[in-house]
Amino acid sequence: MTILPVIPTSPDTPDAVKTRRRPTMPPRHFADLDLAGRKAAVTELGLPAFRAKQLSTQYYGRLVRDPEAMTDLPAAARERLAGDLFPPLLTPQREMACDDGATRKTLWRLHDNAMVESVLMGYPDRITACVSSQAGCGMACPFCATGQAGLTRNLSVAEIVDQVVYLAGVAASGAVTGSPPRLSRVVFMGMGEPLANYPRVIEAVRRLTTPAPEGLGLSQRHITVSTVGLVPAMRRLIAEELQVTLALSLHAPDDDLRDELVPVNQRWKVAEVLDAAFEYAARTGRRISIEYAMIRDVNDQPWRADLLGKLLRGKLAHVNLIPLNPTPGSKWDASPKPVEREFVRRLREAGVSTTVRDTRGQEIDGACGQLAASELTAVDAGGSTADAEVAR
Ligand code: SAH
Repeated sequence: MTILPVIPTSPDTPDAVKTRRRPTMPPRHFADLDLAGRKAAVTELGLPAFRAKQLSTQYYGRLVRDPEAMTDLPAAARERLAGDLFPPLLTPQREMACDDGATRKTLWRLHDNAMVESVLMGYPDRITACVSSQAGCGMACPFCATGQAGLTRNLSVAEIVDQVVYLAGVAASGAVTGSPPRLSRVVFMGMGEPLANYPRVIEAVRRLTTPAPEGLGLSQRHITVSTVGLVPAMRRLIAEELQVTLALSLHAPDDDLRDELVPVNQRWKVAEVLDAAFEYAARTGRRISIEYAMIRDVNDQPWRADLLGKLLRGKLAHVNLIPLNPTPGSKWDASPKPVEREFVRRLREAGVSTTVRDTRGQEIDGACGQLAASELTAVDAGGSTADAEVAR
């Protein structure tokens, strides 16, 4: 593991410590606004409307997040913009790399001292950003580190978008060795339940997929929204007519077990949630991704593979098995490899396309379900533990 240098952050002030307990949404930021909103905002600041386009080119096109560095703008305008449209939303607290620099995790402190994490994963043909949609998560899945701490708050549109723009900048700098210098995919698989922060996540998706320079210009097909299965929100997503990939965290094919592993199943059952997912696939023509964490002796029995195969046979669905990343203090472990192989074999035999996800970022607690920002609870006591840990 490599600990990367981060931009120094100022130590906690007593005020900051006080406000940590009552999380609040951040101030308005450029990335919250669509083009019309940007034009209105610059006009309000006494700047000509064409500055909105110039700012868009800087932010989404050149990935410049600090107006001070936007040198094609007059200095006085830059100052006004910094104060009004570019409040710092994400302060890097810690950055870590592993897998020979191909996986990098950033831990962010938000304006109210809430913490979130993003992960950048480089592959030979692409770079993927895994971003957070909420600080914490309210879904309480017992095997997930984020779920243990509960929900702090929703992220704003700009807090989501700015994670991606930052990571796109890291990619463009060539820092991810062995990968093309362009961020091409975004997965909403960081902290939080994206469909529980529905309007903001959709708005962020629009910002990320609007052609550059008005937006970041990513392909909708290269964005994955992952959900525990909030059926009404899934149905709302169908109506948006977006082409994003939908991932459903199923983890069990039967209600008895899923009620425990994904507590929201007590409200929307396996049959209902799969129905909504199949309808998404039918309406978009996009294959859904069924996420299934392989937990030793819990959900990895051959009969569960067969039941899952029966539920998915003939559907536009792909199964993505995730070897469980045990969270600290968890009673659960990953399934042994032979058990995993047998599970895959049975699913494939049923005609269901199945792969096992690679386990990136384990060393830096950056793998699926490990994003918890837990070490930072120590900071609440008033110290700057995380800062002190940063390699100088
Ligand atoms: N709330 C969304 C996004 C969460 S993270 C959702 O549940 O889909 C993305 C994936 O990681 C989900 O499928 C989640 O269930 C899975 N995951 C969570 N904790 C994990 C763990 N400890 N090991 C393996 N996968 C895990």
